[in-house]
Amino acid sequence: MMKIRSILYHDVVEQSFDESGFPGLAAARYKLWRAEFDAHLDAIASRGLAAPVALHALPQPAQNGATPLLFTVDDGGVSALHIAGRLASRGWRGVFFITTDHIGEPTFVSRADIVRLHADGHTIGSHTCSHPFRMSELPPARIHAEWAQSIAKLQDILGERVDSASVPAGFYAPPVAEAAGKTGIRWLFTSEPTSATHEHGGCVILGRYSVYRGMSPRYAADLASGRALAIAGQTALWKSKKAAKTFAGPVWDQARRRIFNLK
Ligand SMILES: [Zn+2]
Repeated sequence: MMKIRSILYHDVVEQSFDESGFPGLAAARYKLWRAEFDAHLDAIASRGLAAPVALHALPQPAQNGATPLLFTVDDGGVSALHIAGRLASRGWRGVFFITTDHIGEPTFVSRADIVRLHADGHTIGSHTCSHPFRMSELPPARIHAEWAQSIAKLQDILGERVDSASVPAGFYAPPVAEAAGKTGIRWLFTSEPTSATHEHGGCVILGRYSVYRGMSPRYAADLASGRALAIAGQTALWKSKKAAKTFAGPVWDQARRRIFNLK
């Protein structure tokens, strides 16, 4: 399978962390200030990489030997519009994953926003309906419903097929892809820091490199350009998080529930 390098951003805020996306401190960790975000884009642009494109514009495998770059944005916070504008001003396009239960809430995109992002050439995909915790451990019917209903809602808004999705909080497991494939999803993004892709359940599974607030622009550009040291750092972080998720499940859950204001 071809290599595709995807980076993962969340919200980009101007005055307070809670102005876009999910509220709370843990979500805030992934929210960048506007100036910080612009510095990241400058640093990435300075590497002379292929411009990030919409999913449908991905080059055919091995077309020129370079690893394509995808700029993905999770959650569907209202700052997606700002992010999309900053990308488009460089001729770049993003892939925006929307949590469909929150469409139209004050800190999330509206139906009209989604239509606009799509019309501007960005890809719209699902980030599930409810942003469930530990999605991989839900009953199969629930996993299927999270994909099927969110895809149906986005297709209703856009009037065309939606075939990409990202898994909340990195809780990927093969059954999550199998359910996704049954609902027509062909591109499924995880949070595993890798540019290697593989197929499962009818989906291409793609990893992503996560960016958080305080990460230096240079480090973000290192991730986007595949510099070994930055990649190794993310791999180490991923392995420790994975261990935490496996061995400290209840604690992790409690923390995340607090963070996202769930009951
Ligand atoms: Zn998310």
